[in-house]
Amino acid sequence: MEELRTDLLVIGAGPGGLGAALYARRAGLDFMIVERNMAGGQIINTELVENYPGLKDKVSGFELAQSLADHCRSFGVEILEYHPVESIEAISHEASGKRYSFKCTGSKNVISARAIIIATGAKPDRLGVKGEAGLIGKGISFCATCDGALYRDKEVAVIGGGDTAVEEVLFLTNLVEKVYLIHRRDELRACDMLQCRAKENKKIEFIWSSTVEEFIGDDKLEAVMVKNKNDGSITRLDVAAVFEYVGLRPNSETIRDLVKTDEKGFIITDNTMKTSHEGIYAIGDVRDTPLRQVITAVADGAVASMQVDKYFLE
Ligand code: NAP
Repeated sequence: MEELRTDLLVIGAGPGGLGAALYARRAGLDFMIVERNMAGGQIINTELVENYPGLKDKVSGFELAQSLADHCRSFGVEILEYHPVESIEAISHEASGKRYSFKCTGSKNVISARAIIIATGAKPDRLGVKGEAGLIGKGISFCATCDGALYRDKEVAVIGGGDTAVEEVLFLTNLVEKVYLIHRRDELRACDMLQCRAKENKKIEFIWSSTVEEFIGDDKLEAVMVKNKNDGSITRLDVAAVFEYVGLRPNSETIRDLVKTDEKGFIITDNTMKTSHEGIYAIGDVRDTPLRQVITAVADGAVASMQVDKYFLE
């Protein structure tokens, strides 16, 4: 296994990690950026990004991800894609007059670093109800952009009331016959603009104050059992697919033993992105933040790299 050393290791090349890389390069830091998949992060699967300032012509999430990565590459940043970091250890090791504090082991190499920026993002949460586990990939999906076309002209359901659920429900109306939006409350959490678009769309039927109790089907999803929270009644809804958007889980498993997190595992930082452990910074969706957007992740990255620069001078 190849052994490498760097001053700063950025783990994750979504908008946060790429923002950090751009600022680290311009600050002249010695750094590496690794990513377990292709560069771009969660926005790769987003159909349209409409709220990134300066981009008034709508771009797809994929295009924005490519553009962020290409911007870094244009400054000579090499993004090591398909380089997962599987464990992170706190060490104290001196080499060439520098003290290395972290050993990050992946499938391809071991990287020693003086500081690390965790930019590993988050993944979709699951409902955890009966029948779900066996039907994931067989009618239950977490990505309408990826799987929506499989259900052209059929009836499907989306679960959740946040920005993601409403964006994806709107996307699905371009493909399917009808989409039920099942939400546990009687008002949506999504921003006003998305809510208005959804409420005007005739292909969407809202099922308010309701939760999914069970997924029905053997080899493929056939129906969902939906419980109305007001009267307790349970209705069978025959749908070809269900898309779940009930929030996010942080990709913080490799670092949880070293830093403080909240009860869901989101990493707690101060406003300079410092975690509870010296030399570890966290940015974007993996941290405990009031807003999870491309713009906030990119900004977190800039703040973290400038803070790491100061840390090396201390
Ligand atoms: P979110 O904002 O946390 O919304 C999750 C939704 O799922 C909520 O409506 C929640 O209901 C519901 N939910 C949670 N647990 C549930 C359960 N067990 N059963 C049924 N429903 C459940 O998650 P998100 O929409 O994925 O967004 C994540 C972050 O990314 C947010 O900060 C969001 O603003 C951001 N985002 C922004 C954009 C954009 O700007 N265009 C697009 C996508 C995402 P309650 O409302 O009752 O809590």
